Amino acid sequence: MRAATIRAHGGPEVVEVGEVPEPRPGPGQVAVDVRAAALNHLDLWVRRGWPGLHVSFPHVLGSDVAGVVAEVGPGVDAPRPGDAVVLSPGIGCGRCPRCLAGEENLCRRYTIIGEHVAGGQAERIVVPARNALPKPPALSFEEAAAVPLTFLTAWHALAGRARVRTGETVLVHAAGSGVGVAAVQIAKLLGARVIATAGSDAKLEKARALGADELVNYETTDFVHEVRRLTDRRGVEVVLEHVGKKTWEGSILAAALGGRIVTVGATTGWDPVTDLRHVFYRQLSILGSTMGSAAELALVLRFVVEGKLRPVVDRVLPLAAVRDAQALLADRAQFGKIVLTP
Ligand SMILES: [Zn+2]
Repeated sequence: MRAATIRAHGGPEVVEVGEVPEPRPGPGQVAVDVRAAALNHLDLWVRRGWPGLHVSFPHVLGSDVAGVVAEVGPGVDAPRPGDAVVLSPGIGCGRCPRCLAGEENLCRRYTIIGEHVAGGQAERIVVPARNALPKPPALSFEEAAAVPLTFLTAWHALAGRARVRTGETVLVHAAGSGVGVAAVQIAKLLGARVIATAGSDAKLEKARALGADELVNYETTDFVHEVRRLTDRRGVEVVLEHVGKKTWEGSILAAALGGRIVTVGATTGWDPVTDLRHVFYRQLSILGSTMGSAAELALVLRFVVEGKLRPVVDRVLPLAAVRDAQALLADRAQFGKIVLTP
């Protein structure tokens, strides 16, 4: 089958589209014919590699997948061949106390499709049957593939970890990113006032259309100053941090007394400076969040079906254009998700 793979860790040049052996489903697994697979910043991290990441090359990229079940392994009674599905990107062991509690993203053996195991930017992918959720019929395959990782990440961070309440103000960085697009909508759904930042006025207008109340262009203004101005100098109750080094110090300064900063990623670097005086004196809570549970994804999909959350597809490209797609993502040239079709 054809797949977007990396043959080694490195720059854009290690990404190839070529033939790899077609995977077959084992016990408890299903094989899915991929119709659409979205990109994430995680793809770029995996391509570059990090200490502790061990993959077997060639490694198939891609965490967000929608498709049709082609074949089921022994012991699988659902889904059935022919079912349209969207994949929950996280895989827990299924047996430990965390998994049994429905908190598989806290499982010690937790992994993400396309990270430690083969991904879905390919013609076919094999996953545990429990990861294959019914695709909402109202969504195209491209739209369905644009939901899982970023909406799950934003949902668990804002609803699960930061516990955003009605009337609070939430700062969402990089509102044009996959996580940003999801976070603006989720914070609004939870009843918050949303201050969104982006690097261009065109992206900010799109963020407004998603529900953002206040817009801050971080290229032309100082976002900390703007946040203080927009909150009567109080700061925001919650910051959704996924940018990392470039924004971290500002995120801490933008938080209100007793505020919560929830960090889900570090696109611009994971080793920022933290002035602890601001953390203890202003009694900030710094919360980590990674992914979410399949149950949370099912809830998100319900809100999508009800029209309360909507995936945003920036563009659809053929699988062969994966390098171009990664370059667009690296340059932040998109608003929402870039989706590949095999
Ligand atoms: Zn487990």
